[in-house]
Amino acid sequence: MLPWKACTVGDSMEQIDTPSLILDLDAFERNLSHMTRLRGQMRLRPHAKSHKCPEIARAQIAHGAVGICCQKLSEAAVFASAGITDILVTNQLVGERKLRHVRELAQTIRLGVLVDHAEQIRSLGHVMAGSHHELDVYVEIDVGAGRCGTTVEQSVVLARKIHALDGIRFAGVHAYHGGAQHLRKPYERAAAIRFAAARASQARDAIESVGMTVPIITGAGTGTFWHERDSGVYNELQPGSYIFMDRDYADNEPDAGEARFEHALFVLATVQSRPAPDVAVIDAGLKASSVDSGMPAVYKRTDLKYVKASDEHGVIKIGSQHGLSSSAKISDATTGHGLQLGDKLMLIPGHCDPTVNLYDEIICVRGGKVEAIWPISARGASL
Ligand code: PLP
Ligand code: MN
Repeated sequence: MLPWKACTVGDSMEQIDTPSLILDLDAFERNLSHMTRLRGQMRLRPHAKSHKCPEIARAQIAHGAVGICCQKLSEAAVFASAGITDILVTNQLVGERKLRHVRELAQTIRLGVLVDHAEQIRSLGHVMAGSHHELDVYVEIDVGAGRCGTTVEQSVVLARKIHALDGIRFAGVHAYHGGAQHLRKPYERAAAIRFAAARASQARDAIESVGMTVPIITGAGTGTFWHERDSGVYNELQPGSYIFMDRDYADNEPDAGEARFEHALFVLATVQSRPAPDVAVIDAGLKASSVDSGMPAVYKRTDLKYVKASDEHGVIKIGSQHGLSSSAKISDATTGHGLQLGDKLMLIPGHCDPTVNLYDEIICVRGGKVEAIWPISARGASL
């Protein structure tokens, strides 16, 4: 009996128990096609940490992706066992137990990992020694985000060390600028990626100057990927959130001419309490929609503001601060346009990746009906 299912295939939206994670299939498919057009000649390797769902990875590959990125090795293992054969883990992997799994996984799929330290290369070389399947190793350079990554000078030293060892292969340069993705102004994002591309091209030139080739220069996210595409430096793009479009991305000021992606991911919630005329409490708190990037928005309800999340409750303020006079909206609420117990709201999560990680399944809807229910198989895979 427990836990029961929120719905079954064929149910109407109204029949879905809440809180539930919803995928609008029409919007999702338009987002996939839109990215296929926008990537141009670039290789597309979408980041699967956004969805953790093999069905979605398969749809991305059907739309021309060369493979996927994962952030965690255990995440990659889940996708590999679901049949995805080309995965780049965009992370440094440290620890004996993890490295044994690197070797195992590299026997079954094309696997790539990142390094930014000579010790990681030594350990990878050690664990891959004698293997018939080479591991792709990318040098991560810091392109301005101030997280992991080497300087341009160090990247040459590391590339040579990779080249010198059996079982591992120098695959290229990882040049992802996480800090640029949510810069709100278009010119700020453009400037950040100009800097990133300059660093990446310096690293490429320096590595080539010692007689090596740099097959792949990879990076980019949903906030900036057209700048990497047009840089003349990158040849692979890694956006993740474009399939869903969360509230934080919608808050970016769009670039001129850039067609926007659509909101396709929602948390469906129910009004469970109306403690005051201008307050509704819903059954979706921070265990239903992550709040690390701010509160969710209420879809198509500019009169409603999600103001506070506790574990299991969300507080909705009715009719204030949304460009309409608060008195007008409160009176709407009290004269019948307000929310009733049992009413359902669609939330646009503040940040898609950690929200998806809260659910076992994603409920796929089209035309108001549940068309499919996809397991989020790599949910919680954090090793
Ligand atoms: N590449 C790397 C290395 C990342 O860490 C991320 C996200 O944090 C992405 C790509 C995808 O970014 P987004 O989901 O913002 O498109
Ligand atoms: Mn994210």
